[in-house]
Amino acid sequence: MKILVQKFGGTSVATLENMKMVREKVRDGLKRCDKVIAVLSARAGETNNLLALADAWSPAPDKAECDVLVSTGEQVSVSLFAMLLKDIGLSARSMLGWQIPIITDDDFGRARILSIDKEMLLKQLADNDVLVVAGFQGCTRDGRITTLGRGGSDTSAVALAAALDSTLCEIYTDVDGVYTTDPNICSSARKMERIAYDEMLEMASMGAKVLHIRSVEFAKKYRVPVYVRSTFSDDAGTLVTQEDSTMEAVLVSGIAYDKDQARVTLAAVPDVPGMAAAVFGPLSEQGILVDMIVQNTSQDGHTDMTFTIPRKDLSQTLEIMENVAREIGADKVLHDVSVAKVSAIGVGMRNHSGVAARAFAALTQEGINILMISTSEIKITILIQEKYVELAVRILHDAFGLDWDLGC
Ligand code: ADP
Ligand code: ASP
Ligand code: MG
Repeated sequence: MKILVQKFGGTSVATLENMKMVREKVRDGLKRCDKVIAVLSARAGETNNLLALADAWSPAPDKAECDVLVSTGEQVSVSLFAMLLKDIGLSARSMLGWQIPIITDDDFGRARILSIDKEMLLKQLADNDVLVVAGFQGCTRDGRITTLGRGGSDTSAVALAAALDSTLCEIYTDVDGVYTTDPNICSSARKMERIAYDEMLEMASMGAKVLHIRSVEFAKKYRVPVYVRSTFSDDAGTLVTQEDSTMEAVLVSGIAYDKDQARVTLAAVPDVPGMAAAVFGPLSEQGILVDMIVQNTSQDGHTDMTFTIPRKDLSQTLEIMENVAREIGADKVLHDVSVAKVSAIGVGMRNHSGVAARAFAALTQEGINILMISTSEIKITILIQEKYVELAVRILHDAFGLDWDLGC
């Protein structure tokens, strides 16, 4: 039995008209495969509205209850869509995370999928042409509802595809593929025919929200090809797949950016063993993700430590850092919220030098000041003032010739 998993994002299910377009995509899927699992997000804006509701009700909303609340966005979508399918005579039913169940850990708000009951899915597929599954949600072993983190419906879809050994997972969204950079901020962004899992992982982790990072991790681990395409057109999309030699010929294949950043500095930290552990230990205990870290050379036995975190974690981080600074005898805690990250990504960097120099030269020409730099095997990331983000993305896109179609 050939099972196709198709995922539809928030804008794709926002209105009745859009959902009818989604229905056509599902009908088309049924022509190509025996059964379809349609994974749906909440209607555009709904998750934000529900989170705002929680904030209006409580100064510190309980995380587990928040998941019960936000998961209802997807419940609305799947019930409405199953009705639409039935209206045209298809056999279909909706399924929520706990009904399958999709078992996760209990890290509410960003839970990880542990297992999926494949037998239950196959049983339901025996009676239905289409299962309409709520994305973004699961439940713990003891039945508490969880959510997978913002953008998590992509992960639900790829995990379902992996569990059912599907040969393809289609992600339908409001753009017709993965572009060399966000097409909504750079008009010369070019659609890629294919992108390697590792490049897509870096793009997603550096802010390209077209795919949720954990969906790419699943896809890579279980070798599920992911095809990103548009709900609103029939144009060819982008295949996220295994790397091959033609991909390495391209030095940089994409530019990503992330405005959700804040920079924190601990000034004059005593330069003795144990300081990094004292600073970053309490942050990791609170689940705060630290990204770029820079420690300056020592002066008079003291050094400055600077790092970046997601902006939403700033006030909690500052509170923790004030305590740490007192304990270790650091001078003061400084912060800056008007910063953003821009990254150039490409598997071709493994075998080429000079990529960083080319990026820095291009930014210098436009007078953009670089605040921090970090690199990995296939990525260069710079931290800059947020107001320069769009400009920096366009400059780097241009500097690496990404608007030229190299036919790779
Ligand atoms: P959905 O609601 O369908 O999951 P998202 O808003 O999560 O859609 O993701 C699609 C958006 O991702 C696009 O509208 C686009 O602005 C953004 N995006 C960022 N980087 C890229 C990129 N490199 N290629 C395509 N889209 C990108
Ligand atoms: N509805 C969730 C969100 O807005 C999950 C998703 O759309 O993928 O983050
Ligand atoms: Mg998304």
